[in-house]
Amino acid sequence: MKKNETLTLTITDLSYQGLGVAKAADKVIFVADALVGEQVVAKILKVQKNIAFAKAIEHLTTSPDRVAIKNARYTQTGIAPLQHLSYRGQLAFKRHQIEQVLHKQHLDEIEVGQPAGMATPYAYRNKAAVPVRLVDGQVRVGFFRRNSHDFVPLTDFLIQDPRIDAVLKVVVQLLNRYHIAAFDEAAHKGCVRTVVVRRGYYSKEVMVGLVTRTKNLPHAAEFARSLQQECPDVVSVLHNVNPAKTNVILGPTTHTLAGKSTITDTLNGLQFEISLHSFYQVNPTQTEVLYQKAVAAAGLDGSQTVIDAYCGIGTISLNLAKAAKQVLGVEVVPQAIADAKHNAQLNHITNAKFVVGTTEEWMAKWQAAGVAADVVVFDPPRKGLAASVIAATAQMKVSKVVYVSCNPATLARDLALFKQAGYAVTQPIQPVDQFPQTPHIESVTVLERTQAD
Ligand code: SAH
Repeated sequence: MKKNETLTLTITDLSYQGLGVAKAADKVIFVADALVGEQVVAKILKVQKNIAFAKAIEHLTTSPDRVAIKNARYTQTGIAPLQHLSYRGQLAFKRHQIEQVLHKQHLDEIEVGQPAGMATPYAYRNKAAVPVRLVDGQVRVGFFRRNSHDFVPLTDFLIQDPRIDAVLKVVVQLLNRYHIAAFDEAAHKGCVRTVVVRRGYYSKEVMVGLVTRTKNLPHAAEFARSLQQECPDVVSVLHNVNPAKTNVILGPTTHTLAGKSTITDTLNGLQFEISLHSFYQVNPTQTEVLYQKAVAAAGLDGSQTVIDAYCGIGTISLNLAKAAKQVLGVEVVPQAIADAKHNAQLNHITNAKFVVGTTEEWMAKWQAAGVAADVVVFDPPRKGLAASVIAATAQMKVSKVVYVSCNPATLARDLALFKQAGYAVTQPIQPVDQFPQTPHIESVTVLERTQAD
């Protein structure tokens, strides 16, 4: 098999990244723009030892789940890699992904429920972070082509709140009007690297953050004034300085150019204050569904002590607090814990306590101190749980675990460990689609302790 060779392939599966999977010449071939059941003519792009990458250049048969794409740019940039798959097909794909990883861990007995999807699976993101570059003498925003530094200018981002796209248009006009230079990555020159926009789904408050390479932002005051004049819903205009040669978007220092330093939004009726740096779930309506499922799964009656591990700014903790005796939240980022405490006060919640540190360290500490947690909610990052955390949970004799996962592979690995530690999955895993048009999969799993004391 060689680069640029063409082959006729039959697609048997979709990879977790949404690429068609085919087999030929003892290799697994990952094929872009190819769906299960399709026969395609594919051009080989890259050959490795056991695998190869290709793209479909002709479809000899097409899947009934194939739909017309909105724009090839959304695939090229990775904004919407599943746009060629019907939404029903996307939800089925996500469910199947979880079933596959369970099968690999010999956990076929665990059922996976129908994913909770969106009625309109577009325009959902409450946050944008878009690069700024000079194109034909004009400052533009856009996205990068996947795995490259090629800049693709865009004005409609498909999955973002349309008001965010509209505010971005005004930001771009003003950058051009005030001749504020775009970042030049190759030369590490210029000024504005990225524009971050967040919008409260319920509050409708908008935050705009300009991330610059230089400490100085020319015409900052005029920019902020004009932006607020043209977009009165922009209640926070921020300037963040990031001089480093890095892909990390935000630098350490942020100044307020106009308005407030935070915006507020509500989730399930609770208020949250969100700063430029805060981690906050990007799909507000589906996050409400996710948290409702997690809280319902916890099965609280006001008498329980609940641990919310990986609590971020306390969003799940405060959803749990209403129905719990007390909630203990742990999170490694100190600023997030400061926000969590502040958010508890904002909502007059007094039975949630928050600590800074790793879940690994605090689960061990709480266990040693004899804390009797009835329920633990885990919402870890993609790498999942450390084995020591699962062991500490079992030693604490926690009767119920609610595992919110953004990565089915580590979820399945951890469920196998929980099984060994004496826990069983007692309800079908509930996927909640937080990221329509992309292959990302979020789910809620309920585990119960099977041993009597
Ligand atoms: N539950 C929150 C945040 C989930 S994201 C929400 O829904 O908004 C996962 C969080 O885990 C992040 O805030 C991250 O900072 C934190 N984190 C990552 N590794 C950690 C660790 N080892 N211990 C505790 N928190 C950790």
